[in-house]
Formats: sequence, structure tokens, C-alpha cells
Amino acid sequence: MTSPEHSLAREISARLAQVHSRIAAACTQGGRAADSVHLLAVSKTQPADAVRAAFAAGHRAFGENYVQEALDKIAALGELRAQLQWHLIGPLQSNKTRPVAEAFDWVHSVDRLKIAQRLAEQRPPGLPPLQLCLQVNVSGEASKSGLAPAEVPEVARAVAALPRVRLRGLMSIPAPAQGFEALRAPHRALRELLTALNAQGLALDTLSMGMSDDLEAAVAEGATMVRVGTAVFGARA
Ligand SMILES: *Cc1c(COP(=O)(O)O)cnc(C)c1O
Repeated sequence: MTSPEHSLAREISARLAQVHSRIAAACTQGGRAADSVHLLAVSKTQPADAVRAAFAAGHRAFGENYVQEALDKIAALGELRAQLQWHLIGPLQSNKTRPVAEAFDWVHSVDRLKIAQRLAEQRPPGLPPLQLCLQVNVSGEASKSGLAPAEVPEVARAVAALPRVRLRGLMSIPAPAQGFEALRAPHRALRELLTALNAQGLALDTLSMGMSDDLEAAVAEGATMVRVGTAVFGARA
């Protein structure tokens, strides 16, 4: 009775339950409602069977980094398409926007206006609006993609005005740090940026921040979507 699929399903189901209880504990700690934080299971480098196992455990929202790998996986899981939500969280080049506009539900990694314009042009009219976040380089690392915080207001206003896409909020991947306070600081900066945009008339509801190692710090600063790979699926190969 212990086929490989069953043990994978059991393992992923147990890991999902652990991550949900970490999120719930962080919400309690911060006086937040447990359902105010959504879990995005980051399935990059994981096979379609791992996504199937998470689906069997009741999970529906998955994050992918690499466009071609994601397109292959979305196709392999085609019979589940209507029940799954696919989020692109990795870098997006302008020559790859068309298949992304056609296949995904969300893109978290919009880092320039041109990308959003192309996604808007290429989103098929029969689909719901593509949900977008702007990626912000909160730590100011030269090596990281993302808009500088000072660039965000102008780009956000322009993206919010595009058809066929809906700007939902901001995403970041902070530099590694040690200690709870140091982990919180960049998440706080992203929250403050979102608050400032909403004070200028935007209506953004999404802070995509926090991963396996810092989700508690992100929830403490107002994350509404945590992107968790390793803690859900185990170590990547
Ligand atoms: C890989 C990745 C994650 C998940 O990282 P883990 O540490 O495995 O939880 C989240 N966000 C982005 C953008 C990633 O590339």
C-alpha cells in the first residue's frame, strides 16, 4: 500500500500542514486573521507529480520561476488547469511575454513598464485580467532585479491604467539576513511603499513577500502572500 506516489503525497501533505501552522502562528502573533495570508507553493524544479501531490492535499496556487519549465508543467497538468492558479515569480524577458500572458494567472516579477505593456497587449480577451505585482529591489543590491523604490510610483500609476491586466501590489526578494529584526526591515520597507501608493490613490491589496526561511518576519510586516518552496516540497535538486 505504500507506492511511491502515496509516500510523496503523504510527505507533501505533512509539509503543507506544517507551513500552514507556521503561517497561523505568525498571524496569531501579529494579531492578524489566519486567512489574511495566502500560501503560494513554489514548485520550481519540482516534477508535475509533486504538484499533483500538493493538489491532492488540497493546495491550488503554485509559483514558478522559469518560463519554459512552467509552460511544460502547466501543459502536463492540463486536466487540472481550471482548478489551479499559476504564478510566475521569476525574471521575465520581453521576448517571453506572449506565452506568459496566455498561460499564467499572475506575474509577480514585473520590473519595467514595457513588460506590463506587452502582457496587457498579449493577454487573450477571453481570459480574466492577468494579475500583476511590481518587483521592488528593497535591499538595493546591484545584482538583484526589480525596480528601485523611487521608480515605483510612476510605474505603478502607468501599469494600473493598462487594460487586460490588474495591478495587485508589490513583490520583493530581500538580501539574506540574520535575526528576526534584520529579516523584518526590508519587508517593512515594502509595506510602507504599498501604503504610500494607496495614499496616492491606488488600491493595491497584495504584498508578495516571505519565503521558507523568513515567512514569519514577512507576516509580521503585513505579507498577504508568502512564496514557499523548500518548506513545502523539500530541498531542490
Ligand atoms: C525559489 C523562490 C522562492 C521559494 O524559496 P524557498 O526558500 O525554497 O522557500 C520564493 N520566491 C522566489 C522569487 C523564488 O525564486
